[in-house]
Amino acid sequence: MLTNEYVKRVYDQVQKRDGDQPEFLQAVYEVLDTLQPVVAKHPEYEANGVLERLVEPERVVKFRVAWVDDAGKVQVNRGYRVQFNSAIGPYKGGLRFHPTVNEGVIKFLGFEQILKNSLTTLPMGGGKGGSDFDPKGKSDAEVMRFCQAFMTELSRHIGQFTDVPAGDINVGAREIGYLFGQYKRIRDEYSGVLTGKGLEFGGSLARTEATGYGLCYYTAEALRVLKNDSFEGKTVVISGSGNVAIFATEKAQELGAKVVTASDSNGYVYDPDGIKLDIVKDIKLGHRGRIKEYAERVPGAEYHEGCSGVWTVPCDIALPCATQNEIDEASAEALVKNGCKVVCEGANMPSTPEAIAVYQKNGLLYGPAKAANAGGVAVSGLEMSQNSYRLSWTFEETDAKLKSIMESIVAESLAAAKEYGEEGDLMAGANIAGFVKVANAMVAQGIL
Ligand code: GLU
Repeated sequence: MLTNEYVKRVYDQVQKRDGDQPEFLQAVYEVLDTLQPVVAKHPEYEANGVLERLVEPERVVKFRVAWVDDAGKVQVNRGYRVQFNSAIGPYKGGLRFHPTVNEGVIKFLGFEQILKNSLTTLPMGGGKGGSDFDPKGKSDAEVMRFCQAFMTELSRHIGQFTDVPAGDINVGAREIGYLFGQYKRIRDEYSGVLTGKGLEFGGSLARTEATGYGLCYYTAEALRVLKNDSFEGKTVVISGSGNVAIFATEKAQELGAKVVTASDSNGYVYDPDGIKLDIVKDIKLGHRGRIKEYAERVPGAEYHEGCSGVWTVPCDIALPCATQNEIDEASAEALVKNGCKVVCEGANMPSTPEAIAVYQKNGLLYGPAKAANAGGVAVSGLEMSQNSYRLSWTFEETDAKLKSIMESIVAESLAAAKEYGEEGDLMAGANIAGFVKVANAMVAQGIL
């Protein structure tokens, strides 16, 4: 509940201005709620207008993306880039191509990215972008033409020292390749302007695996520190079957867990013997198929229509890796009823506030997205370093850096939570630790 006068005033203003952006309001409310003890202790934040500046993007770019489909018909989509906060580094964050994308969704993602990027300890500000373009069912050539049209405008606003986009939902190696090519053609400049690039043109080893692996490193460390426990022998429910879910499954299995589910926007599969990841990879990475195919190929596996049913599958650990608000109150109750003790988030904001309240009431170990899924952008930061050095590190070296960053996020979060009387609260701790660094930089740089 918001009780601090300053925080209440800032939130009221956001509500007045952005009342039509529910996801953005949700993300802001959660953060402001946990920052109340911090602003109470540090009057300099109010004196410098830190919160009212933090909730207002430095720049929002919204543009038309016109392209021609395979049938020769003109298509028009909307493109966005929200350059939210550059206090600690150039804007950094992914691009999402999905029909649900609008300004409010990109703003919530950009706002989360500010604190997430700060937690990685690397010098990256917060940004996010994307389009309501739906790549589902589009040919390669259509995706390429769309990416070229999108980058033609975006190229005016980004640069290796200004803003460095990457992938998010539906933006993977193929899209980053097309986007990079078009940037290079327009600017006649070969720079690390995007991350998640192919290994042949400046990409980093372990970037593909980073979000999913990082999620498991974070979860393993939180389990070790808070519960003296591990993944060994645990049953894990994972939603999604994209890049984050696939590599979370791979690492959880490697750490001794049994992952029993995978899902997409149509439904989920349950495999009581444990998900065969090579089949999921073949379906999703091999030919961009639907997860239903898994149950057709694997004897003993079941397919169920509708994705929220995945949360009724009994498990010890749940790793939501699909999309925002995929776990509501009823799903959280179902998880708890069936024995789930840990929820760590691979997707951005996958739990509604009501779901988080259920985790808290029942004493679950809850690892919030901006900490638990920071591994992706962390290795993006390492990709930027390698591009600047003009060299590349081995997989082992990069993976070891990722692991140590995820472990330090757990430590940083717990230390911040303790300092502000919220001992053991990974959500409050992540918000506070992420915020303090950005806030101090904003104060030091003056009123901008
Ligand atoms: N889209 C990812 C995220 O939500 C990664 C962003 C990046 O690598 O810049 O953090």
